[in-house]
Amino acid sequence: MAEASSSGSSETRTSKRSIDEGEVLHSTFEHQAIVYGTTALLSALLVKGFSDVHDLPGTIGAAVAALLAYYISDFLTGIYHWGVDNYGDGDTPIVGSQIAAFQGHHQKPWTITEREFCNNVHKVFKPALPFAAVCLLASPWLPAPVELFLSTATFLTCMSQQFHAWSHMKKSQLHPIVDALQGAGVLVSRKAHGAHHRAPFEGNYCIVSGFWNPILDAGGSPDGFFRRLERFVADCTGVEPRCWYEPDYSWQETPDAPLQGKLTP
Ligand SMILES: [Zn+2]
Ligand SMILES: [Zn+2]
Repeated sequence: MAEASSSGSSETRTSKRSIDEGEVLHSTFEHQAIVYGTTALLSALLVKGFSDVHDLPGTIGAAVAALLAYYISDFLTGIYHWGVDNYGDGDTPIVGSQIAAFQGHHQKPWTITEREFCNNVHKVFKPALPFAAVCLLASPWLPAPVELFLSTATFLTCMSQQFHAWSHMKKSQLHPIVDALQGAGVLVSRKAHGAHHRAPFEGNYCIVSGFWNPILDAGGSPDGFFRRLERFVADCTGVEPRCWYEPDYSWQETPDAPLQGKLTP
């Protein structure tokens, strides 16, 4: 995703891969406070979870919780990405800026690779901050596997935006460990996420490992998970998703926006 910030910055670029004028790419103190504050709370919850593991069954429970967190966080990023890609606009309450950011990312996907770490991830960490605080406050009453699951799943979901950024970088820009993790399928690969960046942006929404993408997309079948969900939403509310149409960026006042035309009945 790309933040469509309007605050002033000297970090404007003019090149073939242009960056919007006024786009803030560096990490501010606020970005760092949100990201490191949330990480500290989630780390405390993780440590509390490990301190509550005392025997072999507890160790097995901890391992299962961490594994579940890894797979479920990938699924959750897919659901969230699908939602903000397809419904609402920049004026939608609460998530409007996220929706605008995802649409901006489809138009200029390279911007994400220019962002500093906290700048890139702070929008996902921000709602996780109060959630992490509540989980930590409730931790005396939580069993160890739940503490480990909540801390790991929340952190991976927040970090998905960095995994996403890495999937847009050239191999030469990546740390060898990140490159190896992408190659092993532990993190979403450049190829897997690249498949999302084809209009009308109708699949490959998961951005932790991408494990769920082939399962949810079902090879682009109309019976795939998201197509079924979209028909259900349309039947219940009358609202059709953006991916049923060619991209329409006119609401962002982009001068060369393609004409809108429905793709599927
Ligand atoms: Zn998208
Ligand atoms: Zn992307």
